Amino acid sequence: MSETKRGIGTKCVQAGYTPGNGEPRQIPIVQSTTFKYDTSEDMGKLFDLEASGYFYTRLQNPTNDHVAAKIAELEGGTAGMLTSSGQAANFFALFNICETGSHIVSSSSIYGGTFNLIAVTMKKMGIDVTFVSPDATEEELDAAFRENTRAMFGETIANPALTVLDIEKFAKAAHRHGVPLIVDNTFPTPVHCRPIEWGADIVTHSTTKYMDGHGTAVGGAIVDSGRFDWMAHAEKFPGLTTPDDSYHGITYAEKFGKEGAFITKCTAQLMRDFGCIQSPQHAFYLNLGLESLHVRMKRHAENGLAVAEFLADRPEVIRVSYPGLKGDPYHELCVKYMPEGSCGVVSFELKGGRAAAEAFMKKLKLAAIETHVADARSCCLNPATSTHRQLTDEQLEAAGIPAGLVRMSCGLEDAADLIADLEQALA
Ligand SMILES: *Cc1c(COP(=O)(O)O)cnc(C)c1O
Repeated sequence: MSETKRGIGTKCVQAGYTPGNGEPRQIPIVQSTTFKYDTSEDMGKLFDLEASGYFYTRLQNPTNDHVAAKIAELEGGTAGMLTSSGQAANFFALFNICETGSHIVSSSSIYGGTFNLIAVTMKKMGIDVTFVSPDATEEELDAAFRENTRAMFGETIANPALTVLDIEKFAKAAHRHGVPLIVDNTFPTPVHCRPIEWGADIVTHSTTKYMDGHGTAVGGAIVDSGRFDWMAHAEKFPGLTTPDDSYHGITYAEKFGKEGAFITKCTAQLMRDFGCIQSPQHAFYLNLGLESLHVRMKRHAENGLAVAEFLADRPEVIRVSYPGLKGDPYHELCVKYMPEGSCGVVSFELKGGRAAAEAFMKKLKLAAIETHVADARSCCLNPATSTHRQLTDEQLEAAGIPAGLVRMSCGLEDAADLIADLEQALA
């Protein structure tokens, strides 16, 4: 069987690294900042991107590359790279093709950190954004594009709103306007959704969440589908389609083709200049998480659904959001894009506002109060008293985050125990 046709579970365990005779079975941690060469010419070829290899861990390290190759295979892409965090992954993915004067079309339903990155920090760099509803019609999406639009962005399952992106609709809109769709696939992971199969061009991850899965290492990843034709839209992407003076005038899209240009440029320029690399030690931890990702995601999604179904029947609960739940506004899209399950994050609104939410969370014995999701251990958060505590009740309501909202990340415990814990806390 060809390696790319193997099942997702086999890829989780074995992709990205094949040891030779007598070599370590587990990916070695190459704990070295630098690499030795016999001649300056040998090293010079690396600096000119004439040969591939390692010279300094700020740009590339073999441990990271094995793990990135695994994630690229899981997503069905042609190239991948690791970054120091999910924030760095989303920044690099966008900044690799945007510059001062560019414009981004983004779903409004995205992670708060990414919203800040795009709406505040990238804005200061002269990069504009138009936010669109994840439920926007084709016409509404088309109306958001401008002549200077360079990328479209969305999250497969948004954190924390739990909306589901209609990836095909967004990809078609992006392609009608000659730009790539970048999808943050952190919540479902490639075990439950592979956005490239639905037309996405670039996929990003906060590997801090399910991929690591044990609350151990902050990290991020970027995967290129290798399908976007930069040369066909050469005038929009001069960084990829015209000579790079900082590398003796090579043109990435010509030298590395559709399959390699995006990640090579991102490594050679952005990693070189910003240095947001994941440490090899973190990449090793990440790989341990990836080895069981397929087994864990199944359990996270089963627990998420069991908890959502339990809460939906409780009189203390005003509403439950979970795309895997029948009747959820995003259930249909969830079934289409994630037929085998979604994720373990459920949000629900309690009667009695923030006081009820606080009292309820204090009573939980298994789910700890944490600013985190997607961990083996269940955890929960009341945005009104934590991440969004600067907002008044009215502002919270307007932002779609009622004061009594609890976001719960279902871990890998037994569903019956999680439900018993919720039951005693509700009582
Ligand atoms: C957490 C998260 C991020 C940011 O990742 P960090 O690893 O915390 O930098 C980005 N996108 C999504 C969907 C997230 O959940």
